[in-house]
Amino acid sequence: MNKIHAERTAKLFTPGPVNIPNRVRVASSFVNYHHRSDEFSNILVNMLDRLKPLFGTTQQILPIHTTGRGALEGVYNNILTPKDKVICVCNGSFGEMAAKTLERNDIPYVKAFNSWEKEVDTAQLEQLIIEEKATAITAVHNDTSNGIVNPISVIGQLAGKHDLLFIVDTVSGLGCMPFKFDEWGVDAAVTASQKGLMSPAGISFAAISNKAMEVCENRVPRGFYIDLKNIKKNLDNRNQTPGTTPVNLILAVNEAVNMIDEEGLQNVFERHHALSQATKEALVALGFELFPKDCGLRSDSLTVCNIPSGIDINRVLLHLDEKYRIKISRGLGDYASSTLRIAHMGYCYVEDMLECIVTLEATLFDLGYIKTIGEGLSSFLRKYNQVI
Ligand code: PLP
Repeated sequence: MNKIHAERTAKLFTPGPVNIPNRVRVASSFVNYHHRSDEFSNILVNMLDRLKPLFGTTQQILPIHTTGRGALEGVYNNILTPKDKVICVCNGSFGEMAAKTLERNDIPYVKAFNSWEKEVDTAQLEQLIIEEKATAITAVHNDTSNGIVNPISVIGQLAGKHDLLFIVDTVSGLGCMPFKFDEWGVDAAVTASQKGLMSPAGISFAAISNKAMEVCENRVPRGFYIDLKNIKKNLDNRNQTPGTTPVNLILAVNEAVNMIDEEGLQNVFERHHALSQATKEALVALGFELFPKDCGLRSDSLTVCNIPSGIDINRVLLHLDEKYRIKISRGLGDYASSTLRIAHMGYCYVEDMLECIVTLEATLFDLGYIKTIGEGLSSFLRKYNQVI
Protein backbone atom coordinates (compact mmCIF):
# COMPACT_ATOMS: atom_id res chain seq x y z
CA MET A 1 0.00 0.00 0.00
CA ASN A 2 1.10 3.57 -0.70
CA LYS A 3 2.82 4.86 2.46
CA ILE A 4 1.14 8.28 2.58
CA HIS A 5 -2.21 6.59 2.20
CA ALA A 6 -1.36 4.10 4.93
CA GLU A 7 -0.76 6.96 7.34
CA ARG A 8 -4.21 8.44 6.80
CA THR A 9 -6.60 7.38 9.54
CA ALA A 10 -9.71 5.63 8.31
CA LYS A 11 -13.00 7.50 8.21
CA LEU A 12 -15.54 5.86 10.49
CA PHE A 13 -19.00 4.77 9.43
CA THR A 14 -19.14 2.38 12.37
CA PRO A 15 -22.13 2.65 14.72
CA GLY A 16 -19.93 4.09 17.42
CA PRO A 17 -17.43 5.40 17.90
CA VAL A 18 -18.08 8.03 15.25
CA ASN A 19 -15.77 10.60 13.63
CA ILE A 20 -14.86 13.40 15.99
CA PRO A 21 -15.16 16.93 14.58
CA ASN A 22 -11.97 19.01 14.61
CA ARG A 23 -13.69 21.60 16.77
CA VAL A 24 -14.37 18.95 19.40
CA ARG A 25 -10.82 17.61 19.18
CA VAL A 26 -9.33 21.07 19.66
CA ALA A 27 -11.73 22.08 22.44
CA SER A 28 -11.02 18.91 24.39
CA SER A 29 -7.26 19.09 24.19
CA PHE A 30 -6.61 22.78 24.57
CA VAL A 31 -7.29 23.62 28.19
CA ASN A 32 -6.56 21.63 31.27
CA TYR A 33 -8.91 23.11 33.84
CA HIS A 34 -8.87 21.86 37.39
CA HIS A 35 -12.13 20.00 37.95
CA ARG A 36 -12.87 21.96 41.13
CA SER A 37 -12.32 25.38 39.53
CA ASP A 38 -15.16 27.85 38.93
CA GLU A 39 -14.25 28.17 35.24
CA PHE A 40 -14.78 24.47 34.76
CA SER A 41 -17.92 24.27 36.93
CA ASN A 42 -19.55 26.95 34.79
CA ILE A 43 -18.85 25.00 31.61
CA LEU A 44 -20.06 21.74 33.17
CA VAL A 45 -23.35 23.11 34.47
CA ASN A 46 -24.07 25.07 31.30
CA MET A 47 -23.38 22.02 29.12
CA LEU A 48 -25.63 19.76 31.25
CA ASP A 49 -28.41 22.34 30.92
CA ARG A 50 -28.06 22.33 27.16
CA LEU A 51 -28.35 18.53 27.03
CA LYS A 52 -31.93 18.80 28.34
CA PRO A 53 -33.53 19.45 24.92
CA LEU A 54 -31.74 16.39 23.50
CA PHE A 55 -33.33 14.26 26.25
CA GLY A 56 -36.63 16.15 25.89
CA THR A 57 -36.75 16.95 29.58
CA THR A 58 -36.75 19.71 32.13
CA GLN A 59 -35.06 17.34 34.62
CA GLN A 60 -31.46 17.88 35.63
CA ILE A 61 -28.98 15.80 33.54
CA LEU A 62 -26.47 13.79 35.57
CA PRO A 63 -22.96 13.03 34.25
CA ILE A 64 -21.70 9.50 34.94
CA HIS A 65 -17.96 8.91 34.61
CA THR A 66 -17.97 5.74 32.54
CA THR A 67 -19.00 4.46 29.11
CA GLY A 68 -22.60 3.50 28.38
CA ARG A 69 -22.49 -0.04 29.80
CA GLY A 70 -21.14 1.13 33.14
CA ALA A 71 -23.68 3.94 33.34
CA LEU A 72 -26.56 1.59 32.54
CA GLU A 73 -25.39 -0.93 35.15
CA GLY A 74 -25.06 1.88 37.69
CA VAL A 75 -28.53 3.21 36.94
CA TYR A 76 -30.06 -0.29 37.28
CA ASN A 77 -28.29 -0.75 40.60
CA ASN A 78 -29.44 2.61 41.93
CA ILE A 79 -33.08 2.20 40.96
CA LEU A 80 -33.70 -1.57 41.12
CA THR A 81 -33.13 -4.23 43.78
CA PRO A 82 -33.49 -8.05 44.06
CA LYS A 83 -37.07 -7.37 45.19
CA ASP A 84 -38.01 -6.03 41.73
CA LYS A 85 -39.34 -7.99 38.78
CA VAL A 86 -38.14 -6.43 35.55
CA ILE A 87 -39.42 -7.01 32.02
CA CYS A 88 -36.48 -6.64 29.59
CA VAL A 89 -37.40 -5.91 26.00
CA CYS A 90 -34.79 -8.11 24.31
CA ASN A 91 -35.28 -7.62 20.56
CA GLY A 92 -31.61 -6.87 19.89
CA SER A 93 -28.14 -7.28 21.32
CA PHE A 94 -28.40 -4.24 23.57
CA GLY A 95 -31.82 -5.27 24.83
CA GLU A 96 -30.25 -8.60 25.77
CA MET A 97 -27.38 -6.76 27.42
CA ALA A 98 -29.84 -5.24 29.90
CA ALA A 99 -31.02 -8.75 30.86
CA LYS A 100 -27.42 -9.97 31.24
CA THR A 101 -26.58 -6.96 33.41
CA LEU A 102 -29.55 -7.57 35.69
CA GLU A 103 -28.65 -11.28 35.90
CA ARG A 104 -25.13 -10.49 37.15
CA ASN A 105 -26.56 -8.08 39.69
CA ASP A 106 -29.14 -10.53 41.05
CA ILE A 107 -32.11 -8.46 39.90
CA PRO A 108 -34.98 -10.74 38.79
CA TYR A 109 -36.07 -10.25 35.18
CA VAL A 110 -38.12 -11.81 32.39
CA LYS A 111 -37.15 -11.48 28.73
CA ALA A 112 -39.72 -10.16 26.25
CA PHE A 113 -39.48 -10.38 22.43
CA ASN A 114 -36.40 -12.54 22.39
CA SER A 115 -35.77 -12.23 18.64
CA TRP A 116 -33.67 -9.69 16.81
CA GLU A 117 -36.14 -9.72 13.95
CA LYS A 118 -39.28 -8.81 15.94
CA GLU A 119 -40.80 -5.50 16.79
CA VAL A 120 -42.52 -4.97 20.13
CA ASP A 121 -46.12 -6.12 20.30
CA THR A 122 -47.57 -3.87 22.97
CA ALA A 123 -50.61 -6.07 23.68
CA GLN A 124 -48.28 -9.01 24.41
CA LEU A 125 -46.08 -6.76 26.48
CA GLU A 126 -49.00 -5.65 28.63
CA GLN A 127 -50.07 -9.26 29.10
CA LEU A 128 -46.58 -10.14 30.31
CA ILE A 129 -46.48 -7.16 32.67
CA ILE A 130 -49.70 -8.37 34.30
CA GLU A 131 -48.74 -12.08 34.39
CA GLU A 132 -45.34 -11.41 35.88
CA LYS A 133 -46.52 -8.73 38.33
CA ALA A 134 -43.67 -6.62 37.02
CA THR A 135 -42.32 -3.62 38.89
CA ALA A 136 -40.04 -2.22 36.18
CA ILE A 137 -39.27 -2.42 32.48
CA THR A 138 -36.14 -1.84 30.38
CA ALA A 139 -35.99 -1.09 26.65
CA VAL A 140 -33.51 0.19 24.10
CA HIS A 141 -34.55 3.27 22.15
CA ASN A 142 -32.42 2.47 19.08
CA ASP A 143 -30.85 -1.00 19.12
CA THR A 144 -27.44 -0.66 17.45
CA SER A 145 -27.29 -4.36 16.59
CA ASN A 146 -30.27 -4.47 14.23
CA GLY A 147 -31.39 -0.87 13.81
CA ILE A 148 -34.82 -1.45 15.38
CA VAL A 149 -36.38 1.61 17.00
CA ASN A 150 -38.61 0.60 19.90
CA PRO A 151 -41.91 2.44 20.62
CA ILE A 152 -40.71 4.12 23.79
CA SER A 153 -43.79 6.37 24.03
CA VAL A 154 -46.18 3.38 23.96
CA ILE A 155 -44.08 1.38 26.43
CA GLY A 156 -43.99 4.51 28.59
CA GLN A 157 -47.80 4.61 28.60
CA LEU A 158 -47.90 0.97 29.74
CA ALA A 159 -45.31 1.72 32.41
CA GLY A 160 -47.47 4.61 33.65
CA LYS A 161 -50.67 2.54 33.59
CA HIS A 162 -49.10 -0.31 35.60
CA ASP A 163 -46.94 1.89 37.82
CA LEU A 164 -43.61 0.47 36.59
CA LEU A 165 -40.23 2.14 36.64
CA PHE A 166 -39.15 2.55 33.01
CA ILE A 167 -35.42 2.59 32.18
CA VAL A 168 -34.30 3.31 28.61
CA ASP A 169 -30.94 2.86 26.88
CA THR A 170 -30.65 5.66 24.32
CA VAL A 171 -26.89 5.31 23.84
CA SER A 172 -27.14 5.28 20.03
CA GLY A 173 -30.38 7.24 19.66
CA LEU A 174 -29.89 10.46 21.60
CA GLY A 175 -28.85 13.42 19.48
CA CYS A 176 -29.70 11.53 16.28
CA MET A 177 -33.44 11.03 16.71
CA PRO A 178 -36.03 12.80 18.88
CA PHE A 179 -36.23 11.62 22.48
CA LYS A 180 -39.04 12.88 24.73
CA PHE A 181 -38.20 11.83 28.27
CA ASP A 182 -40.97 13.84 29.98
CA GLU A 183 -43.70 13.28 27.40
CA TRP A 184 -43.02 9.53 27.00
CA GLY A 185 -43.08 8.82 30.75
CA VAL A 186 -39.49 7.54 31.04
CA ASP A 187 -37.96 7.25 34.54
CA ALA A 188 -34.30 6.91 33.58
CA ALA A 189 -32.57 7.36 30.21
CA VAL A 190 -28.87 6.86 29.57
CA THR A 191 -26.66 7.97 26.70
CA ALA A 192 -22.90 7.95 26.09
CA SER A 193 -20.45 10.40 24.56
CA GLN A 194 -19.19 8.55 21.48
CA LYS A 195 -22.26 8.45 19.22
CA GLY A 196 -24.73 11.29 18.67
CA LEU A 197 -22.59 13.43 20.98
CA MET A 198 -19.61 13.17 18.57
CA SER A 199 -16.98 12.89 21.33
CA PRO A 200 -14.45 10.32 22.51
CA ALA A 201 -15.87 7.43 24.57
CA GLY A 202 -15.67 7.58 28.36
CA ILE A 203 -18.53 9.62 29.77
CA SER A 204 -22.27 9.09 29.93
CA PHE A 205 -25.29 11.18 30.83
CA ALA A 206 -28.59 10.25 32.44
CA ALA A 207 -31.96 11.89 32.90
CA ILE A 208 -33.77 10.65 36.01
CA SER A 209 -37.46 11.28 36.79
CA ASN A 210 -38.61 12.59 40.20
CA LYS A 211 -40.17 9.20 40.86
CA ALA A 212 -36.89 7.33 40.17
CA MET A 213 -34.85 9.90 42.10
CA GLU A 214 -37.16 9.43 45.08
CA VAL A 215 -36.43 5.70 44.95
CA CYS A 216 -32.68 6.51 44.94
CA GLU A 217 -33.05 8.98 47.81
CA ASN A 218 -34.61 6.31 50.01
CA ARG A 219 -31.96 3.64 49.70
CA VAL A 220 -28.24 3.01 49.75
CA PRO A 221 -27.26 2.21 46.16
CA ARG A 222 -25.93 -1.23 45.35
CA GLY A 223 -22.33 -0.36 44.50
CA PHE A 224 -20.23 2.65 45.47
CA TYR A 225 -18.88 4.21 42.27
CA ILE A 226 -22.14 5.21 40.61
CA ASP A 227 -24.34 6.85 43.22
CA LEU A 228 -26.99 8.99 41.52
CA LYS A 229 -28.02 10.62 44.79
CA ASN A 230 -24.43 11.68 45.41
CA ILE A 231 -23.93 12.90 41.82
CA LYS A 232 -27.06 15.05 42.19
CA LYS A 233 -25.95 16.32 45.61
CA ASN A 234 -22.54 17.34 44.24
CA LEU A 235 -24.15 19.19 41.34
CA ASP A 236 -26.76 20.90 43.53
CA ASN A 237 -24.36 21.94 46.28
CA ARG A 238 -21.18 22.86 44.41
CA ASN A 239 -21.70 22.53 40.63
CA GLN A 240 -19.25 19.62 40.58
CA THR A 241 -19.19 15.84 40.27
CA PRO A 242 -17.96 13.27 42.83
CA GLY A 243 -14.37 12.12 42.28
CA THR A 244 -12.11 13.45 39.55
CA THR A 245 -14.15 14.73 36.61
CA PRO A 246 -12.88 13.69 33.15
CA VAL A 247 -12.48 17.37 32.28
CA ASN A 248 -11.42 16.86 28.68
CA LEU A 249 -14.41 14.68 27.90
CA ILE A 250 -16.74 17.34 29.32
CA LEU A 251 -14.99 19.95 27.16
CA ALA A 252 -15.45 17.67 24.14
CA VAL A 253 -19.17 17.17 24.75
CA ASN A 254 -19.55 20.89 25.47
CA GLU A 255 -18.18 21.73 22.03
CA ALA A 256 -20.32 19.04 20.39
CA VAL A 257 -23.39 20.57 22.05
CA ASN A 258 -22.30 23.99 20.74
CA MET A 259 -22.26 22.49 17.25
CA ILE A 260 -25.70 20.92 17.72
CA ASP A 261 -27.08 24.24 19.00
CA GLU A 262 -25.62 26.10 16.03
CA GLU A 263 -27.12 23.66 13.53
CA GLY A 264 -30.42 23.48 15.41
CA LEU A 265 -31.64 20.24 16.98
CA GLN A 266 -34.51 19.83 14.53
CA ASN A 267 -32.09 20.25 11.60
CA VAL A 268 -29.80 17.65 13.16
CA PHE A 269 -32.70 15.17 13.31
CA GLU A 270 -33.72 15.98 9.73
CA ARG A 271 -30.14 15.49 8.53
CA HIS A 272 -30.00 12.07 10.18
CA HIS A 273 -33.36 11.12 8.68
CA ALA A 274 -32.42 12.17 5.13
CA LEU A 275 -29.03 10.41 5.29
CA SER A 276 -30.68 7.30 6.67
CA GLN A 277 -33.38 7.17 4.00
CA ALA A 278 -30.86 7.77 1.21
CA THR A 279 -28.39 5.17 2.55
CA LYS A 280 -31.14 2.55 2.81
CA GLU A 281 -32.21 3.30 -0.76
CA ALA A 282 -28.62 3.04 -2.03
CA LEU A 283 -27.99 -0.28 -0.31
CA VAL A 284 -31.16 -1.79 -1.74
CA ALA A 285 -30.09 -0.54 -5.19
CA LEU A 286 -26.74 -2.30 -4.65
CA GLY A 287 -28.51 -5.62 -4.03
CA PHE A 288 -28.71 -5.64 -0.23
CA GLU A 289 -31.91 -6.31 1.70
CA LEU A 290 -32.78 -4.24 4.76
CA PHE A 291 -32.60 -6.11 8.07
CA PRO A 292 -34.82 -7.12 9.77
CA LYS A 293 -37.14 -7.78 6.87
CA ASP A 294 -40.37 -6.62 8.50
CA CYS A 295 -39.73 -3.50 10.46
CA GLY A 296 -41.92 -0.42 10.60
CA LEU A 297 -39.60 1.80 12.57
CA ARG A 298 -35.99 1.72 11.37
CA SER A 299 -33.11 3.65 12.87
CA ASP A 300 -32.04 7.03 11.54
CA SER A 301 -28.59 6.61 13.06
CA LEU A 302 -27.57 3.41 11.27
CA THR A 303 -28.56 1.12 8.41
CA VAL A 304 -28.49 -2.65 8.86
CA CYS A 305 -28.85 -5.06 5.95
CA ASN A 306 -28.52 -8.70 5.03
CA ILE A 307 -25.47 -9.60 2.98
CA PRO A 308 -26.45 -11.23 -0.32
CA SER A 309 -25.21 -14.79 -0.76
CA GLY A 310 -21.98 -14.90 -2.73
CA ILE A 311 -20.56 -11.75 -1.12
CA ASP A 312 -17.66 -12.39 1.24
CA ILE A 313 -18.15 -9.66 3.81
CA ASN A 314 -14.62 -10.05 5.22
CA ARG A 315 -13.16 -9.24 1.80
CA VAL A 316 -15.47 -6.24 1.44
CA LEU A 317 -14.57 -4.79 4.86
CA LEU A 318 -10.84 -5.34 4.32
CA HIS A 319 -10.80 -3.86 0.81
CA LEU A 320 -12.88 -0.86 1.84
CA ASP A 321 -10.51 -0.18 4.71
CA GLU A 322 -7.19 -0.86 2.97
CA LYS A 323 -7.89 0.72 -0.41
CA TYR A 324 -10.31 3.51 0.48
CA ARG A 325 -9.71 4.03 4.23
CA ILE A 326 -13.40 3.65 5.08
CA LYS A 327 -14.60 1.56 8.00
CA ILE A 328 -18.07 0.06 8.23
CA SER A 329 -19.16 -2.78 10.54
CA ARG A 330 -20.36 -6.32 10.33
CA GLY A 331 -23.31 -7.42 12.45
CA LEU A 332 -23.24 -8.67 16.02
CA GLY A 333 -23.88 -12.02 17.71
CA ASP A 334 -25.60 -14.66 15.58
CA TYR A 335 -25.86 -12.09 12.75
CA ALA A 336 -22.14 -11.26 12.68
CA SER A 337 -21.50 -12.80 9.29
CA SER A 338 -24.92 -12.32 7.71
CA THR A 339 -25.50 -8.60 8.30
CA LEU A 340 -23.73 -5.34 7.66
CA ARG A 341 -24.04 -2.12 9.68
CA ILE A 342 -23.33 1.36 8.33
CA ALA A 343 -23.68 4.39 10.58
CA HIS A 344 -24.80 7.86 9.60
CA MET A 345 -24.57 9.01 13.17
CA GLY A 346 -23.35 12.23 14.77
CA TYR A 347 -20.71 14.07 12.75
CA CYS A 348 -21.89 12.84 9.37
CA TYR A 349 -23.06 15.00 6.48
CA VAL A 350 -24.19 14.33 2.92
CA GLU A 351 -20.64 14.58 1.52
CA ASP A 352 -19.45 11.97 4.04
CA MET A 353 -22.23 9.55 3.19
CA LEU A 354 -21.60 10.05 -0.54
CA GLU A 355 -17.99 9.04 0.09
CA CYS A 356 -19.13 5.95 1.97
CA ILE A 357 -21.61 4.85 -0.70
CA VAL A 358 -19.23 5.57 -3.61
CA THR A 359 -16.37 3.64 -2.03
CA LEU A 360 -18.63 0.75 -1.03
CA GLU A 361 -19.87 0.60 -4.61
CA ALA A 362 -16.28 0.82 -5.89
CA THR A 363 -15.32 -2.03 -3.56
CA LEU A 364 -18.13 -4.24 -4.82
CA PHE A 365 -16.98 -3.40 -8.36
CA ASP A 366 -13.28 -3.98 -7.63
CA LEU A 367 -14.10 -7.39 -6.14
CA GLY A 368 -16.29 -8.36 -9.09
CA TYR A 369 -19.55 -8.46 -7.15
CA ILE A 370 -21.19 -5.87 -9.44
CA LYS A 371 -20.54 -5.25 -13.13
CA THR A 372 -21.59 -1.63 -13.48
CA ILE A 373 -21.14 1.32 -11.24
CA GLY A 374 -23.33 4.29 -10.31
CA GLU A 375 -26.59 2.66 -9.22
CA GLY A 376 -25.90 3.12 -5.50
CA LEU A 377 -24.78 6.73 -5.90
CA SER A 378 -27.70 7.79 -8.09
CA SER A 379 -30.24 6.07 -5.81
CA PHE A 380 -28.67 7.77 -2.79
CA LEU A 381 -28.84 11.22 -4.38
CA ARG A 382 -32.37 10.82 -5.72
CA LYS A 383 -33.68 9.85 -2.29
CA TYR A 384 -31.61 12.42 -0.41
CA ASN A 385 -32.79 15.28 -2.62
CA GLN A 386 -36.36 14.11 -2.24
CA VAL A 387 -36.26 13.85 1.58
CA ILE A 388 -34.15 16.83 2.59
N1 PLP B 1 -26.29 0.50 24.38
C1 PLP B 1 -26.26 0.67 23.05
C2 PLP B 1 -27.55 0.81 22.30
C3 PLP B 1 -25.03 0.71 22.37
O1 PLP B 1 -25.00 0.88 21.05
C4 PLP B 1 -23.84 0.57 23.11
C5 PLP B 1 -22.54 0.58 22.44
O2 PLP B 1 -22.41 0.37 21.27
C6 PLP B 1 -23.93 0.39 24.50
C7 PLP B 1 -25.17 0.37 25.10
C8 PLP B 1 -22.71 0.22 25.33
O3 PLP B 1 -22.08 1.44 25.46
P1 PLP B 1 -20.50 1.55 25.70
O4 PLP B 1 -19.84 0.83 24.59
O5 PLP B 1 -20.29 3.04 25.71
O6 PLP B 1 -20.21 0.95 27.03
